Amino acid sequence: MACAPALIDREGRTISYLRISVTDRCDLRCRYCMSEAMSFMPRSAVLSLEEMALIAERFIARGVRKIRLTGGEPLVRRDMIDLARRLGGKIGSGLDELTLTTNGTRLAEHAEALFDAGVRRINVSLDSRDPDTFRYITRHGDVTRVLDGIAAAKAAGLAVKINMVALKGLNQAEIAPMLAWTSAEGMDLTLIETMPLGAIDEDRADRFLPLTEVMADLRTRFALTPDSHTTGGPARYWRIEGTDSRLGLISPLTANFCATCNRVRLSTDGKLHMCLGHEDSVDLKAAIRAGGLAEVDARIEEALALKPARHDFRIAPGAAPAVARHMSVTGG
Ligand code: SAM
Ligand code: SF4
Repeated sequence: MACAPALIDREGRTISYLRISVTDRCDLRCRYCMSEAMSFMPRSAVLSLEEMALIAERFIARGVRKIRLTGGEPLVRRDMIDLARRLGGKIGSGLDELTLTTNGTRLAEHAEALFDAGVRRINVSLDSRDPDTFRYITRHGDVTRVLDGIAAAKAAGLAVKINMVALKGLNQAEIAPMLAWTSAEGMDLTLIETMPLGAIDEDRADRFLPLTEVMADLRTRFALTPDSHTTGGPARYWRIEGTDSRLGLISPLTANFCATCNRVRLSTDGKLHMCLGHEDSVDLKAAIRAGGLAEVDARIEEALALKPARHDFRIAPGAAPAVARHMSVTGG
C-alpha cells in the first residue's frame, strides 16, 4: 500500500493536499455562503468518521502531505476530535500537517484537544470585529465567542490565520483596521473574494468587492512587499513591513492560479471533487461501501482524469452560481 503511485492529474499537477468537509452543517448562516433556510444532508448520506479516516489514509498513502478539516463548521460534528486525533497520528508518517478551518464559535472548548491531536495552525473566519456587523453577516453570530476562541487557540499554542471575505459596503471599511489588528496580534490575514457557489438569498454581485480595488487602498496605508510564500494554492502573499505577519489574497475572480493547484476535496457525503468550481466528482462513499479500499483506489484514478485545467468563475448581476453546491458541502 505504501508504494501506491503518486496522484498526478492530466495537466501534470501533483495532488498533495486534501480538504475534508467533516459536516455540511453549521451554527452560523453567513449571507455569502448559505441561505437562512439552508437544508442540510440527511445523516444517512454522510460519511462516517471511520470512512473519512480510511479514505484520508488512502490519500496519505498516495502522497497527500497536508489535510485540512473544514465544512460546514467542523467543530459542530460530534466526535470530530477523534478524527483529528487519528489523522494527527499520521503526522511524520506520510503526513506533514493537519489543519482546520473554523468559524471559531466552539474553538474555546476544543483548542487544547486540537493541539493535543497534532494540529499546529488553524484558519479562523472573522469577517468583522464589530458585533453588529458580525451579527448581520452571520445572521445571528456573537463575535465575542469567536474572539474568545481565537484567544484560547493562541493560548493552547495554535498559530491562527484570519480569513475575511471582502464584502462591498459591508465590511469594506474594516479591512485596513483588520490588517492592523491581525499584524499587531502576530496573525496572518487572508482576504477572499466572494465566489459563486450555491444559491443564497441575495445576489452575490451586489457585495462583490474585487481585491484589486482593496489592494490599491491597502498599499496607500501599509508598506507591503510581495512574499514568495506559497501553499500551492490560490493565495498570493504580501509581507507587512515592520511586522512578522503576512497578508494573503484569494482572488479567483480577478486573478487565476489554477495552473499550480495541488488540492482536491472530499465532501461530507463522500464525493471527491477535483475542483471547487466544477460539478464533476466521483463517489467514494459508494466505492468504500461496495468494494472497500480497492474500489476507492479505482475511483481516485478516474478522478485524476476529471481535474479541469481551471475554474470558470464569473460574478455578474443576476447570474446563476457557477456550481449548485455550496462551499460548506465541498469544504472551503
Ligand atoms: N465554517 C468554517 C468557516 O467559516 O471558517 C469552515 C467552512 S467555510 C465554507 C470556509 C471558508 O470559506 C470561510 O473562510 C468562509 O468565509 C469561506 N466562504 C464560504 N462561502 C464562500 C463563498 N461563497 N465565497 C468565498 N468564500 C466563502
Ligand atoms: Fe458556516 Fe463557515 Fe458558511 Fe459561515 S462560512 S455559514 S461559518 S460554513
